[in-house]
Amino acid sequence: MIWLMISLLLSGTVVLTVCCVYCIVKLKSNPLEKYVRRLLSCAVGVTLFNVSAIMIPVSKMSLIVFAIYNIFETLTIMSLLSFTRHYIGKTNGLGVLRLPVFIAAGIDAAILLINPFVNIVFKVERLSDDFGNVFFRTCDYSMLYTYHTALVMFMTVIVMTILLHKMIISPRAYVIKYSSLFISMCVLASLSFLHLYMDFKFDYSIALYALEGFMIFYFSLVYVPRGLMDRLMFFTVANMKDGIICVDIDGNIVYANTAAVEFCAADDSIKTLEEQLKVWKCNDIKDTNSIHIWEMTRRNRKETHYYTIEYRRIYDSIMKSLGYFFLIHDKTEEFLKYENEKYRATHDKLTGLYNKEYFYEVVETMMKENKDEEYNIIVTDVKNFKIVNDIFGVDEGDELLKKIADITRKLGGSYCVYARLTGDRFALCMPRSRYSEEALLACYSKADSFVENSSFKTHIHIGVYRVTDRNLRVSVMCDHAMLAIRTIKDSFRSRVAYYKTELRESFIGDHRIISEFETAIKNGHFRPYIQPQIASNGCIRGGEVLVRWFHPVDGMISPNSFIKILEQTGLISRLDRYMWEHACAQLKKWDEMGYKKSYLSVNISQKDFYLLDVYNVIISLIYKYNIDPSRLHLEVTESAIMDDPTNHLQLIARLRKRGFIVEIDDFGSGYSSLNMLKDLDADVLKIDMGFLQKTTNPAKSTIILKMIIALAKSLNMQVITEGVEKLDQVEFLSRFGCDIFQGFYFAKPVAVEDFEKLYLNKRFRMK
Ligand code: C2E
Ligand code: CA
Ligand code: CA
Repeated sequence: MIWLMISLLLSGTVVLTVCCVYCIVKLKSNPLEKYVRRLLSCAVGVTLFNVSAIMIPVSKMSLIVFAIYNIFETLTIMSLLSFTRHYIGKTNGLGVLRLPVFIAAGIDAAILLINPFVNIVFKVERLSDDFGNVFFRTCDYSMLYTYHTALVMFMTVIVMTILLHKMIISPRAYVIKYSSLFISMCVLASLSFLHLYMDFKFDYSIALYALEGFMIFYFSLVYVPRGLMDRLMFFTVANMKDGIICVDIDGNIVYANTAAVEFCAADDSIKTLEEQLKVWKCNDIKDTNSIHIWEMTRRNRKETHYYTIEYRRIYDSIMKSLGYFFLIHDKTEEFLKYENEKYRATHDKLTGLYNKEYFYEVVETMMKENKDEEYNIIVTDVKNFKIVNDIFGVDEGDELLKKIADITRKLGGSYCVYARLTGDRFALCMPRSRYSEEALLACYSKADSFVENSSFKTHIHIGVYRVTDRNLRVSVMCDHAMLAIRTIKDSFRSRVAYYKTELRESFIGDHRIISEFETAIKNGHFRPYIQPQIASNGCIRGGEVLVRWFHPVDGMISPNSFIKILEQTGLISRLDRYMWEHACAQLKKWDEMGYKKSYLSVNISQKDFYLLDVYNVIISLIYKYNIDPSRLHLEVTESAIMDDPTNHLQLIARLRKRGFIVEIDDFGSGYSSLNMLKDLDADVLKIDMGFLQKTTNPAKSTIILKMIIALAKSLNMQVITEGVEKLDQVEFLSRFGCDIFQGFYFAKPVAVEDFEKLYLNKRFRMK
């Protein structure tokens, strides 16, 4: 018997050790692993020390080992209690037992450890079996041993109560899991009890520790109840957001979850699941043996839903078909999120039009796909958009952009691609067959009076590139259209400009001007020319200073070729200052020569107002050359004034107060002439030469000229007419009351020395 008992115990130890190692290697991630492992280790201790205590040949030693065995028994039950608390998942209520159990177990251990020396708990006796094998067992149990037994029993009862309670309240699928543990615990407890009261030679229950440990290991960490798995899977599928339809090999629907049923019910044209399957089989599944995944859109209760449908065959372990299933995934949310992100990446936030990058992409695709169609690229730009922002505020600026976006949208319709490129620039790509300049102008002029109750008129410039070279990048095509706009940028008259190859050349020329400007001004390549201004009696009163660039390679360049680009780059202020200084120096020289009455007019560019302190620069020049301010006439264009009327009108008033003569240059070329006059106090009105140039209706031009002269007179202003080229013009202008004439009829602009030689102090014959 002794060998049977020992073999049982040793095999139990091996089983428990194997389970322990398995836990460590395979089940590390399971949260219960720690508790199971602790329990198994204690059980290994129990069985090993029990074997040792029985077998050890010295009674004193046996007594010591029996004490350790008993301590391990307490530890095992404590570990079991701890495992059970975590196993059932509710640890809170039993937490209060922790401390008392620890104290009781501590006392128990202390008593057991001193027992070998004082024999106050139990003793050991030496026995032999029928075959003469010697072994030890415990005997003469005192009350203190009863304390140990009671402690173990108490914890065992708690564990069994917890398991029983769990068994009762758990769903049926969990019964095996909990009941197997409960029953094995009952057997273990009963055997221990029997051993205690029946006086067996051995405590056979110890052998059951291994079995109990294994069962705990298996049921808590390895076993998954079959019924439970089926139920869990069933409810998972039934509650899935995706629809599932399972079909057997005969084509009968075996199962469809709620989502699948709802999916079919939402479509009015399809009544049943069977009908739906028929439609899919006809339209979407070509080969029933392979996987098919397709997309579909459906309007469910006024909302559009987007689905992915997946068809798959199901095979068993020997690859025999069991049927097939459909998986219906409603991807509306992901789809809308994606669409939203795509929209944000491709559209302009303020106007909702395409952004630049997406415009380029779509236009490129459109041109590739429609090789026979010819296209125009149209770019629009708001003249002085900055002023809208500065004067009327950013919100008003935004509103204007939205208005232009609306116009562009309506104009573009469904056959154009359109976008907001940047800031105030919009672009359209339009089939040439649909293009009409009139329609374009009519649409964009709707934004003209955008700023209500104000004299400010929005002026939209339009640049058109007729796409001749499709190999160009779309961005370059837009640059071409922009280049066309540059030719009319400063004009209020022109609205549309077309790209021509020469523009590109002039663009390259512009770059040359900018890079050579510095050297030119340093080396005195800019020189003043003077064009005489003649009074109605023929006397030369003075002249307008006009710049000429004497280029070392290109020869003399007229200002029309470079003033605009210098204005755009801001370099103009350097040049103007230089010219003003020359004019002042010239006046000083004439002073010294005795020509104290001749004056010179200088041009003040619109940009000078922003780039220079015009007032102080001019005043300091007057001081420097010690000349009378009335001999320096200042020409300011009406568009320069209208750029920032409040400030510029104030500046003009200050200059006049200081004695300068202020002339309104190019009067009549802008848009707001008459309106401006009511706020403006100037000395001279210089009528734009446009009135004298060839028009379809010269009679009307003459009437207007007459009226303007009369108007200027009644406003106490002198009148200069520029561009006088013919005698008859001199005659009728004289009749209308024009005070001063400037034009090729009298003289072209000439070098300063020539002016002095030819015109200073000269008198023209007026008839
Ligand atoms: P603007 O101020 O209107 O100057 C008059 C322009 O008309 C001059 O052209 C002059 O040569 C031209 N002109 C004069 N009489 C006649 C005529 O009978 N028939 C025709 N067809 N043209 C006539 P220019 O010198 O080529 O200057 C062109 C423009 O360049 C000027 O127009 C002015 O706006 C600008 N500019 C010239 N010099 C300067 C300067 O130093 N500073 C600034 N800011 N602009 C200047
Ligand atoms: Ca001028
Ligand atoms: Ca002029």
